[in-house]
Amino acid sequence: MAEVSLRNVSKFYDNGLCAVDNVNLEVKDKEFVVLVGPSGCGKSTTLRMIAGLEEASSGDIYIDNNRVNDVAAKNRDIAMVFQNYALYPHMTVYENMAFGLKLRKYPKKEIETRVQEASEILGIHRYLKNRPKELSGGERQRVAVGRSIVRKPKVFLFDEPLSNLDAKLRVQMRTEIAKLHDKLQATIIYVTHDQVEAMTMGDRIVLMRDGVIQQDDIPQKLYNSPRNHFVASFIGSVPMNFLSGSVIKEKNKYYFSEGKLRLRIQDSDAMKLKAYEDKKITMGIRPENIYDRLFAKDASDDFAATATVEVVEPMGSEVYLYLACSQNRFTARVNGDDTAKVNQDLEVVFDMTKVHFFDPTTEETLV
Ligand code: ADP
Repeated sequence: MAEVSLRNVSKFYDNGLCAVDNVNLEVKDKEFVVLVGPSGCGKSTTLRMIAGLEEASSGDIYIDNNRVNDVAAKNRDIAMVFQNYALYPHMTVYENMAFGLKLRKYPKKEIETRVQEASEILGIHRYLKNRPKELSGGERQRVAVGRSIVRKPKVFLFDEPLSNLDAKLRVQMRTEIAKLHDKLQATIIYVTHDQVEAMTMGDRIVLMRDGVIQQDDIPQKLYNSPRNHFVASFIGSVPMNFLSGSVIKEKNKYYFSEGKLRLRIQDSDAMKLKAYEDKKITMGIRPENIYDRLFAKDASDDFAATATVEVVEPMGSEVYLYLACSQNRFTARVNGDDTAKVNQDLEVVFDMTKVHFFDPTTEETLV
């Protein structure tokens, strides 16, 4: 397998658009790296430049320390799996999987062994004589993956491979691809716009926006220590709450304050926020870090606020409460036994050890 390295790589399309802006990325041998971000942020362009399907406008791309900018796609020893499978409809599953090896003039016996091996790994050996149209979406996706496995490439590139599948199958294929990674011990670069896929599959996540890498780290780090407001808002299946307010000082203690909301800031955080005293600031807190007072009886009043319940969304094991307090609106993910009712005034407790603060102008994380 192989390492992939991008150094100061940019891509300008003919219309002048900068789709990828000075990207630096190191993918280690056997690593599973996910490129994630909203549509149009430059993920596919980055992947296509690694594959050799798109030329880099500047910068260098290395595979195993060899600069490949001028190496043709077919000579890069990379396999790419696309969203639309790109299977040949008139060929059987076997023929689809064998096709690339035949082109490269592999001996018949070797082709048979490799197709057999790959089809067993993927659980598609029963369909080898079928044509793609006789298979379900998930099975077709497996054939597309199988076709890349048989080549035993240095690197696998996946471009939104699960987007065409229904929700249930997507979840199933997610685990299958993760298992496949373990089995093949392969270097994988995987593109998706879905942060859940990124969080659940990647050893590492590279989050992009407007062609620029926002954060490159392990999933927990993106979740717990986002570098800016954008990362904080993108990662998390129930989005982080962002509250506007200002930092105020009273009797040597600092508070985040807006209207009737007044929450004491941890001393260690306050040290970093002194420059924001009496100035606007954004506080971020995830829904699971806001509690109904009933279940957090011992918490100090310094961390509590009274909010109006606007919507109650029972999810079974938990309940989402949509709350309003002065100008701010936020969501709390509370215990499934919670009895809060719409229009009720509810006392809630903020876990101030879990909050983030962002500069409202630069959007950079302060704490
Ligand atoms: P993503 O994969 O994150 O959705 P892409 O890499 O496909 O994003 O596209 C990044 C940006 O480049 C988008 O604004 C897109 O419209 C633009 N783009 C992609 N391909 C081309 C092209 N062939 N010509 C001009 N602009 C393109």
